[in-house]
Amino acid sequence: MSRLAAVRFSHFLPSLLLLAGGLLAAALPSLSEFFTSLFNVLPTLLLLLGGSFCLVYGRQRELFLLLVLYLGYFLLDVQLDHYRAEGRVRDDAALVFHLCSLLLPLLYGLYAAWQERTHLLQDLVARIAVLLAVGGVALALAQRYPEALLHWLALIRWPSWHGEWMSLVQLAYPLFLLGFVLLLVQYLRAPRPLHAAQLLGLGGLLWMLPKIFSLPHALNVMSSQVMLMLVAAVAHEAYQMAFRDELTGLPGRRALNERLQRLGRTYVIAMADVDHFKRFNDSHGHDVGDQVLRLVASRLRKVGGGGKAYRYGGEEFALVFPGRTLDECLPHLEAVRQAVEAYRLQLRDKQQRPKDDQQGRQRRGGAAAAEVSVTVSMGVAERDEASRTPEQVIKAADQALYAAKSAGRNRVSRHGKVRRGAVRVTPRLD
Ligand code: GH3
Ligand code: MG
Ligand code: MG
Repeated sequence: MSRLAAVRFSHFLPSLLLLAGGLLAAALPSLSEFFTSLFNVLPTLLLLLGGSFCLVYGRQRELFLLLVLYLGYFLLDVQLDHYRAEGRVRDDAALVFHLCSLLLPLLYGLYAAWQERTHLLQDLVARIAVLLAVGGVALALAQRYPEALLHWLALIRWPSWHGEWMSLVQLAYPLFLLGFVLLLVQYLRAPRPLHAAQLLGLGGLLWMLPKIFSLPHALNVMSSQVMLMLVAAVAHEAYQMAFRDELTGLPGRRALNERLQRLGRTYVIAMADVDHFKRFNDSHGHDVGDQVLRLVASRLRKVGGGGKAYRYGGEEFALVFPGRTLDECLPHLEAVRQAVEAYRLQLRDKQQRPKDDQQGRQRRGGAAAAEVSVTVSMGVAERDEASRTPEQVIKAADQALYAAKSAGRNRVSRHGKVRRGAVRVTPRLD
């Protein structure tokens, strides 16, 4: 399966909603007292709650992103408070603002693209060292040579590239651009909610910075929203880890158990098992085996009739049809069985390369890609007088599956009706 196929709108949805909410709230001329107070404490609250969560669970990257965002927020908020209280900006406002415009995208992009290493302590120390080094140099220069630094920051280096709309120092824009490219590539290489949130978070920062003096709530609201995006993405991924099977992307056993608690009085459960999968693994290797499991999962996911597929474990899957009867589900299961049977997986040369090198060289000469296919057997049962709980229905479906295997595999067998064994279901295409 290509990586692009793993790109999901759902990875972006929470962040997009938070971003949209932030844009809306920040653009309002005034916020109610409740929301003003809320956004005044939210960045600190998110740093404390989200930061300690990240620290405990070894999510260093997000911890430092939260820290960088908070530092930027804090420095700018001090300036804003002064501006509001005195009616004019502090003497060092331009320097602090320009430095933040430069360092925020730099450090945010750096920490967001910096993958976590396995050694947590080393990782933590390296990240602290970078923050201290960059912060320390900036602070030292700002104290020692404020004028020269301000001049250096505000310099328009590329006049032909300077647009009227650019209200940040010119240097900030290539940094934002670099950050967007890096984070986009990172997302495309590894599409996950956190990478999507980091990308949109950078967008939020780019929108926020030029507006902090003109829109009264832009800083508080957007800093909060970007921090929330990260915390929400961490929670999203933790949920996925617990409930989603990593190999196939289907919901896993835990999700199935939850679903089983909420089934009504009418439902159908089917158990599907890949035929002779051990043999398949032995002759083609575990990697090809994994690929086949993904393929089978992708067919099962598309099952019609309101069914939902789960990875039960190993090469076994469960399909749950709430509110359906067995007769309603059979044609859909049969369609899925046929779809799996019809699919041909192309093996590239590397995957079918024989262990013997000599033989391999000879074969590669003719290098036609081999095709493999698998079949699945299914057992299906519905809730009835004999099987009243989901566990009992699963057991009944398992018995039917066993019967399908005994009867020669690659078939759907139903539980019940026939007392001994199971019946082969012929395709019903009407
Ligand atoms: P049957 O037709 O009776 O179901 O035969 P089978 O070989 O499919 O059944 P068996 O339960 O003996 O073998 C299941 C195999 O599935 C054993 C194990 O190597 C393989 N398997 C389980 N989980 C995974 C996985 O995540 N990836 C791969 N590649 N193989 C797996
Ligand atoms: Mg099995
Ligand atoms: Mg099997």
